[in-house]
Amino acid sequence: MIGEVLDPEHAAIAFEPSSKPVPVEERARLLADPGFGRVFTDHMAMIEYEDGRWSDARITARHPFTMDPASPVLHYAQEIFEGMKAYRRPNGGAALFRPEANARRFAKSAIRMAMPPLPEEMFLESVRGLVRADRDWIPDSKEGSLYLRPFMIANGSFLGMRPSTEFIYAVIASSVGSYFKSGSPVISLWVTRDYVRAAPGGTGEAKCGGNYAGSLIAQAEAVREGCDQVVFLDAVERRWVEELGGMNIFFVFDDGSLRTPPLDGTILHGVTRDSLIRLARDMGLEVREELYSIDQWRADAQSGRLTEAFACGTAAVVTPIGRVKGRDGEFSIGGESSGPVTQRLRTALVDIQRGTAPDPYGWTEPID
Ligand SMILES: *Cc1c(COP(=O)(O)O)cnc(C)c1O
Repeated sequence: MIGEVLDPEHAAIAFEPSSKPVPVEERARLLADPGFGRVFTDHMAMIEYEDGRWSDARITARHPFTMDPASPVLHYAQEIFEGMKAYRRPNGGAALFRPEANARRFAKSAIRMAMPPLPEEMFLESVRGLVRADRDWIPDSKEGSLYLRPFMIANGSFLGMRPSTEFIYAVIASSVGSYFKSGSPVISLWVTRDYVRAAPGGTGEAKCGGNYAGSLIAQAEAVREGCDQVVFLDAVERRWVEELGGMNIFFVFDDGSLRTPPLDGTILHGVTRDSLIRLARDMGLEVREELYSIDQWRADAQSGRLTEAFACGTAAVVTPIGRVKGRDGEFSIGGESSGPVTQRLRTALVDIQRGTAPDPYGWTEPID
């Protein structure tokens, strides 16, 4: 079996099937209620970088890494990742959603973190290969999908302060249900004043682990304040709403228009954000990419000019925001329920991703 090629057209990927795949009944039990990010599949994709070149890609049994304690990722966090999903199609097949956008963003994140950009075609082939190998792990449920986590870490053995010359790229996959425990709830946000996520010139635009490490304390503060998620303001004026720890944000007004913070260097370029802007505009809704201050947000929510707000990302899809709490008090949005614009956009997006509606944009890629 070793060296078996997954698909004659994709001969670059060797497939070494797991010798101990999870038994079918056990997999069925795991897929019945997978939660988020705790059920993993049988395989992983791997590519190494050394001596200035990438190795061939291979799909192997999922396995632990062995690394030297002086491996630079462990000390200096030279690390990037992606998050994307494979969806079950009505015909039983599988499809990816805009995987080229993830490939491009991964290459950009690599450059920002002084890592070699993985050729986009290698990224795509590794993801496709893993979905083919583990397609039986895609849940059939309405909210379920196969969450794919491509990532790259600096490897080696040195403590010097320089970019590494050795890297490990891998893709793991996790069968997931909905991101939030209660399906698709209306979430509350905590506006942190003590912490910022990203500063101009920093790494806010790169999908790197360090951004998350730095935001965990603010997320913990949010939970302590009884909120679901933290929302960050800009680092300079501490005034403009930027995004959540791992989701972009949209505001909806009583004239039907939308607003979302512009991509000015500190905000992650969300694929979901980009897709929703396109969908909204094609529905005839005006979308402005403009700064929005926390004070204006509160005033607009209180006056009723702001009718809805939602967070978005691959993991949590589109999630309505019902309540916002900060040091100077609290305000609610609309009826603290999922508003009509939020719902319409969510449905339009999910229907394309899952293949229950036509895809006029060419966003979905069937995996056969
Ligand atoms: C991944 C991520 C998002 C969402 O991006 P998608 O491509 O829509 O999944 C938003 N903000 C941050 C900070 C992220 O890391």
